[in-house]
Amino acid sequence: DQEEEEEPSENLQPRPPVVVVMGHVDHGKTTLLDAVRKTNVAEREKGGITQHIGASVVELPDGRKITFLDTPGHEAFISLRARGAQVTDIAVLVVAADDGVMPQTVEAINHARAFNVPIIVAVNKIDKPGADPQRVRRELSELGLIPEEWGGDTIFVDVSAKTGQNIDQLLEYILLLADLLELKADPTKRAKGTIIESKLDKQKGVVATVLVQEGTLYVGDIFVAGTTYGRVRAMTDDKGRRLKSAGPSTPVEVLGFEDLPMAGDTFKVVPDEKTARQIAEARRLQKEQLEKVSRGLALEEVFKKIQEGELKELKLIVKTDTVGSLEAIKKSLSDIHSQEVAIRIIHGDVGGITENDIMLAKASSAIVIGFNTRPDVKAKEAAEREKVDVRLYSIIYELIDDVKKALKGMLKPVEKEVVLGSAEVRAVFKIKSVGNVAGCYVLEGKVVRNAKARLIRNGVVIYDGKIEGLKRFKEDVQEVAKGYECGIKLKDYNDIKVGDVIECYEIKLEQAQL
Ligand code: GDP
Repeated sequence: DQEEEEEPSENLQPRPPVVVVMGHVDHGKTTLLDAVRKTNVAEREKGGITQHIGASVVELPDGRKITFLDTPGHEAFISLRARGAQVTDIAVLVVAADDGVMPQTVEAINHARAFNVPIIVAVNKIDKPGADPQRVRRELSELGLIPEEWGGDTIFVDVSAKTGQNIDQLLEYILLLADLLELKADPTKRAKGTIIESKLDKQKGVVATVLVQEGTLYVGDIFVAGTTYGRVRAMTDDKGRRLKSAGPSTPVEVLGFEDLPMAGDTFKVVPDEKTARQIAEARRLQKEQLEKVSRGLALEEVFKKIQEGELKELKLIVKTDTVGSLEAIKKSLSDIHSQEVAIRIIHGDVGGITENDIMLAKASSAIVIGFNTRPDVKAKEAAEREKVDVRLYSIIYELIDDVKKALKGMLKPVEKEVVLGSAEVRAVFKIKSVGNVAGCYVLEGKVVRNAKARLIRNGVVIYDGKIEGLKRFKEDVQEVAKGYECGIKLKDYNDIKVGDVIECYEIKLEQAQL
């Protein structure tokens, strides 16, 4: 977020880990989450009154805490991630000991890996007669998850979600891994976090769960969330308790949103309502403009991102009809050499293209390639909605050729707009021989003399030109930073009104590096 300078984190303190439970259907994710919640001290004391708010906090007898995302499976994880939210620290991979590794187990591993989330394996259902935990270890080893006891670095815990056996041990291991990860946050900062869930309640209005990730959130705080904003009217935790404040890794249901935010939106506290409104408005505008120009995550777009340094590699999700063709495609792709850009298959599998493939592609800015396979209806809808590029091939040569062509496309220079800052018009001065000068306050970034600028009124761009004159008090200056007042003269333009926003930007031409 470039809307504000980062406050320094001077008071870093350990924070609870945020955990997601993933795995194949029916391997016991929901049962495991229930079992975990049963170990909750607070819950036992209160007689088990839980609220569904999208995440829950498990508190151990010694006071240590773990936050679990309530929705099991990787859908929640990747749909949050698709919005750019990085919320999970650890993934618990549930594998049923009587069933072993299944397709969604592999998918879950790939998703966790795509986002560098460390995995702990819970080998579940060990109470069942047919359970074979060693087989699970062997199968997962083949996928690169090698148990610690075999010299690898993946923690395996044999559990029964049904009987509760070894659940406490699993929690201990999660906390151990959390210690190793040195998860920290500064509770003294203004709160920042992510929207986990949101809904419109008939009585309460907009209700959203915020996972606080940095700082401490207080009742009364003013915030921006995605393209909306508000003031915290009330906060409730997952046990239904009213809170006055919530620190790092705490999920809280918040009342006081002006409008419905989306799961995955960022949430942050700002100094005052005016700032909140302005940031939300600027984001809305930006989003609209982006939507207008967006051609989706086409190959060209992805390469543009690579050029801009946002991506270091071309990520592909490859779905094929047979293992043989998957191997052949992997081989051919690895033969394409490029100095700057690595080609990485983040998920390669046999079968049709699913909605999960699309969400994973969206989340990691990848392209989906289908070889003799097709997307199902849900996947098609998701691809359109999320603007993910799905390319279908039946000839390997054509597939490889497309990737090569795209690499060459990178040699073209790309025009990129960079917003330098924005200022609000607070007064208009009519000056003879010069014209109308806008008395401004710089809201974000900086405004720069001779830079390009547009004038925005009620969300609509009504002028696009440049800043011709820039003064601080009576002095001509080169630039004026956020938080200062200045006088701006727009080139060949006089129709300025109080309340208008001047956005200052530049166009950069970037030459490809290949
Ligand atoms: P999910 O689809 O991964 O969320 O799986 P569920 O939690 O819904 O569990 C699927 C089935 O497996 C249910 O019938 C559970 O009762 C059962 N189950 C889950 N964990 C265990 C376990 O540890 N032992 C036994 N015997 N059954 C389990």
